[in-house]
Amino acid sequence: MTKFYIADTSVFLAKVKPSDVCITTPSVVAEVKDSSSALFLELFCIDNCSETICIEQPRKELIEQIKKVAEESGDFEQLSSADIDVLAKALEYKPLSIILTDDYRIQNIAKILDITIQPINQKPIKKTYKWIMVCSGCRRQVEGIGPCPVCGSPVRRRRMRENKKI
Ligand SMILES: [Zn+2]
Repeated sequence: MTKFYIADTSVFLAKVKPSDVCITTPSVVAEVKDSSSALFLELFCIDNCSETICIEQPRKELIEQIKKVAEESGDFEQLSSADIDVLAKALEYKPLSIILTDDYRIQNIAKILDITIQPINQKPIKKTYKWIMVCSGCRRQVEGIGPCPVCGSPVRRRRMRENKKI
C-alpha cells in the first residue's frame, strides 16, 4: 500500500533528507526559506523536485476542519499556518498519510484525528562521558590519582561530556 509522507517544517530545520518522496505545502516552504535551512531545502529538495518532494496546496475545507479541531483541543494559538496546512494535507491522504514531525502540537492534533506520526529525530544524539583527573588547586589535567605533581593539591575526578552520533 502506498504511503504518503507529509513533511512539516522540522524535517527541513533538522536538515534530514527524506528517504521517501514527501509532500509538503507552500507555507512550509515559505517558513523554511526564512531560516538557516533554506539552502538545504534548495539543494536537496526543491532542485530535485520530482525525486524528493512535492509541494501541494492543502484544501480549504480541510484547513477549516483542522482549525476547528485545534480550537477544541486548545492548540490553535500555538500552531502556525504552516502547521495547520501540514495537518490538512495529512487529513486529505488519510489513512495513507504519515506526518514527519517533531512538533508535539502537530502530534497532538494528529492523534485526535487518528493520523500516523513519524518522528524525524530517529538518530538521537547519544551522550557519552569520559572521566578525567583535574587538580583541585591549579586546575591542571593530571595523570593518575594525585596529589598534583605541580602544586601538590588533591586531584579530583571530573566528568567530561562527549557528544557522539550513533
Ligand atoms: Zn595542581
